[in-house]
Amino acid sequence: MNIQKNLDTLKNSIPKEITLIAVSKTKSIKEILLAYNHGHKIFGENKIQEMTSKWETLPKDIEWHMIGHVQRNKVKYMAPYVSMIHGVDSLKLLKEINKQGKNNNRCINCLIQIRIADESSKFGMNRSELEELYENLKYNQYKYVKICGLMGMATNTVDGFKIYKEFEHLKSLYNEFKNKFSSFNYLSMGMSADYKIAIDLGSNMIRVGSKIFGVRN
Ligand SMILES: *Cc1c(COP(=O)(O)O)cnc(C)c1O
Repeated sequence: MNIQKNLDTLKNSIPKEITLIAVSKTKSIKEILLAYNHGHKIFGENKIQEMTSKWETLPKDIEWHMIGHVQRNKVKYMAPYVSMIHGVDSLKLLKEINKQGKNNNRCINCLIQIRIADESSKFGMNRSELEELYENLKYNQYKYVKICGLMGMATNTVDGFKIYKEFEHLKSLYNEFKNKFSSFNYLSMGMSADYKIAIDLGSNMIRVGSKIFGVRN
């Protein structure tokens, strides 16, 4: 496993304007440093405790993206430093992020997670919940959060057409709500197995782990 070579290969295969999040969950400080020393500074984690301990140890110019499911009582631990929270799936969570943003006097970048897969294990809002959220935000000011776009995970399947349809659905929601949320800029979709399909369908932020760091235990 050559992390630096994997990074080069991946970066050379995607358009430059796409933001690559190197998903480093379960990987060691040493492995992350190999990527960092090769010039990569954006990493994604799915557990707050693990992310926070890595943030404490590693250089402070790293951007940390929380890509996993977030429990409200854990938001305070990442609020001081997190670069973007991808898994915002309720108004309650958004309000808590706003509160912790205020406590830390910083505006926290968020993506709304949309449930596009038909697996019950995957979190996210549906279209009408997103609509409701939009209506709520029209009348309430949450100054310490910035809604930067949408995030979604396709079904874990080898059926490329199914993945295509799910990403297509997410992209159409993104386009529709981009006109409403002026702050929309990012569509976070695509992982090691499906980032090519995601990019074809308009993703501009991909979250790739095993293709860079090797399979996780
Ligand atoms: C683990 C994870 C990824 C990366 O998965 P790979 O298949 O290793 O690329 C991307 N997004 C989320 C939300 C994840 O939890």
